[in-house]
Amino acid sequence: MRNSADMNRVSHTSGDARQDTRLLKILMENSEDGVLLLDHRGVVKHLNAAVFVLTGHAIRRVRGRHVSRFWNDDSARAQLPLIEDALWFEGYWMGTIDLSLKKGGVASFAVKILAVLPEQGSVRLYVVQLTRQERAAQRRESASDAQSPWDPLTGLPTLALFQDRLRQALSQAARRQYAVGLIFMDLDNFALVNDSLGRDRGDDALREVARRLARCLRTSDSVARIGPDEFALLLVDIDDLSSAVRNVGVVARKLYELLEEPILLGGSEIRLSAAMGISLSPQDGLDPQLLMKNTATALSHAKRKGRNSYQFFSQEMTETARRRFAMENSLRHALERDELVLYYQPQVDLKSGRVVGAEALVRWRHPERGLVSPLEFIPVAEETGLIIPIGEWVLRTACRQLARWKQMGLPMIRVGVNLSALQFQRQDLFKVVESCLEETGIDPKYLDLEITESAIMEDVQKAVAVLNRISALGVKLSIDDFGTGYSSLSQLRHFPFKTLKIDRSFVRSIESNAEDAAIVSAIIAMAHSLDQTVVVEGLETDAQLDIMRRLQCNEMQGYLFSAPTSVEEFTEMLRRGACLPAEDES
Ligand code: C2E
Ligand code: MG
Ligand code: MG
Repeated sequence: MRNSADMNRVSHTSGDARQDTRLLKILMENSEDGVLLLDHRGVVKHLNAAVFVLTGHAIRRVRGRHVSRFWNDDSARAQLPLIEDALWFEGYWMGTIDLSLKKGGVASFAVKILAVLPEQGSVRLYVVQLTRQERAAQRRESASDAQSPWDPLTGLPTLALFQDRLRQALSQAARRQYAVGLIFMDLDNFALVNDSLGRDRGDDALREVARRLARCLRTSDSVARIGPDEFALLLVDIDDLSSAVRNVGVVARKLYELLEEPILLGGSEIRLSAAMGISLSPQDGLDPQLLMKNTATALSHAKRKGRNSYQFFSQEMTETARRRFAMENSLRHALERDELVLYYQPQVDLKSGRVVGAEALVRWRHPERGLVSPLEFIPVAEETGLIIPIGEWVLRTACRQLARWKQMGLPMIRVGVNLSALQFQRQDLFKVVESCLEETGIDPKYLDLEITESAIMEDVQKAVAVLNRISALGVKLSIDDFGTGYSSLSQLRHFPFKTLKIDRSFVRSIESNAEDAAIVSAIIAMAHSLDQTVVVEGLETDAQLDIMRRLQCNEMQGYLFSAPTSVEEFTEMLRRGACLPAEDES
């Protein structure tokens, strides 16, 4: 549970609580503002007649229902998290809410909500005050609430509150070595909307933008209105510093998509665009003032570039983000245009020296950039979900290749296919594997699915269930890049793995680092006790080969024997029976 801010306590001390209640009722009934009392869940307990006057909803229909039932759907969804946050931390929220009226349509109300904690008990109640927007505007003119940390138009925090959150986020991030992203966004030509459609419509548009921004952020992130048509977004908890540019870039992209969706204003439809300035802490500054200054600099660069553009504070980051978007766009068409190819890297038995398997590794034959490494595009495919069709294509293509080799009368080998976590989560992997086997008629034992520890650890139970079913088909399963995750072999023994692939990071240091050699030796011993075959990845030198043989490793895959090669070259290798000098010959 989060810590709540100091709560307003309502006390019922003396015996004349009944008298208090009567007075309160009179006050409520004579108020021109709608007043509602909600329980801790947001269900209406009491309300006054003004609510009926303002909204047309009969009192008995409102009482006992959740307050958000009278809310315009979209706005409720977007605003609720913000409101809950404010009530929790500040005990108070003020802003604008669109309520549906009994006669149809919606009307905007200025709303104040106060969280109260009764003297007895710890369950919070909420007092809600509703004022028609026009009345609220009149009142603002007489008694200004310029001090409020909430923007009355959109209900978002204002700059002052946002700065406070930024300060908190930065100090937390520094402690936990997380990154923080800051985005300033300025709507392009917003004055045109006001001039052509009128200020009221302009206000509606700003409220809609605020809702969309709030919708696209996680609850830990913040959004604020910091100028007439300027918004600020704070992205926290970015734990992987190296991919921070990508993460923040993805959010920026999402913001563009949200803005591009047309906004309906009365009878007209408008489309907005914006300039964005982006900075990242720690790279671009550790303290709030510097980070904000740098973000503002980035924003002014973006504005100079014209409509709909974004700019990171550092030019290099802008380039990285831009390359990524360009890649995402062309990756969407790569499959249709038949630009993906599989390369095969042999796996060799260390005793006999014979090729007993191959790993299928995808490459992208990019029309301009040539052969692109999976290290570059698989992460993008994973983020965008494109890994689902790509992964299925890889699986089918590898199975078809196995069938072709069989047809050619070549010695049958095992073919490894890499799987991504998303393939477990988002699709019926069992069905896909089954259909590939059926279509190609290959013996399932020649198909070997490679899975990393992190992929299965995301949802262990589901992974165990899916993998057991796949394993029952006769398909082999390997644990890939072993040693890079945090799982232990004892966790992995619940899975039906036949093979364990030791990550190549161990091999690199095995000659110089006695500790790594000891770890590898222990991994091999444990895998053998579970009846698993051990394949070592990334073997490049004879010395490494000698060590791995001494440690009783079963198979190797690495440049020492062969890099991944095209299907033609690999077929040729199978045909001529390429071999590693066997143990006793070397
Ligand atoms: P991985 O599954 O661990 O594949 C082994 C990687 O090690 C391959 O890189 C291979 O070229 C490289 N390698 C093999 N021997 C040596 C060596 O002796 N020295 C060095 N320095 N490297 C060696 P590649 O092909 O670039 O693939 C990288 C990663 O991309 C793969 O790591 C895998 O995680 C991913 N990947 C490749 N194809 C697919 C695919 O079809 N689907 C999915 N989901 N991921 C794939
Ligand atoms: Mg692999
Ligand atoms: Mg690997």
